[in-house]
Amino acid sequence: MKAEKVVTGVYFIAGEDEFMPDSHVYIIGEPDSHDLSMIDVGLFGKGYKKIQAIKNAGIELKDIKRIIMTHTHLDHIGALKEIKEKIPHAELWVHRTEAEQLEAGDERTVYGMDMFKQMFQMQFGIKPGEFKFKVHKKLEGGETLNLGGMKWRVLHIPGHSMGSIALYNPHKMILIPGDVIYADYNIGRFDLFGASGKQLKESLYKLAELKVRILLPGHNRIVKNLEHDYILKTARQWEPYLF
Ligand SMILES: [Zn+2]
Ligand SMILES: [Zn+2]
Repeated sequence: MKAEKVVTGVYFIAGEDEFMPDSHVYIIGEPDSHDLSMIDVGLFGKGYKKIQAIKNAGIELKDIKRIIMTHTHLDHIGALKEIKEKIPHAELWVHRTEAEQLEAGDERTVYGMDMFKQMFQMQFGIKPGEFKFKVHKKLEGGETLNLGGMKWRVLHIPGHSMGSIALYNPHKMILIPGDVIYADYNIGRFDLFGASGKQLKESLYKLAELKVRILLPGHNRIVKNLEHDYILKTARQWEPYLF
């Protein structure tokens, strides 16, 4: 696993999918700010590899001040315990709806469906109640965060999960949309706990209003020179299925 610089202020660590998807991780913040944010942490068991990739890129763990979750599915939040072991001072920021679940130990969003819960718990030996965490900041959507010298707007984009957010940097036209939209006209699934096709459609159209050049999704390839109406085209293509 390797951290790749996308632009100044954004590192990309590709997820390592095996029989289970492992989300990408992004590290954002101006390099000399000493105020970095980690966006998502990836799948259970993949945390130490992420830490190693961060260290190999010359990033100091003490500079990572917070972990911001695009949403709390297992392939994004699974490694949180491993990461917190190495970066214990980092705060956890999550959209309010999923933050409340994490704090209550409600794991329905984490696993998405009961079948997955049983499968994952057997596969990885994860105990019930593993995903109960204190959340330091509950995001609402609509706010602008000043993160390590960069401004990132938070957009609440439910549909894939109820507390999905995107982070958008207008200056560099960078969008980090979690699992709501991917490259190659793909979108996130909308059949898991808390998902809604109708909300996903609305969220895609909300994202389509943004000027985006660099798309940094939760899985698959990243795009550094996005065509100008890519999100709108994707939304239109999927609209018949989203209700
Ligand atoms: Zn995912
Ligand atoms: Zn997801």
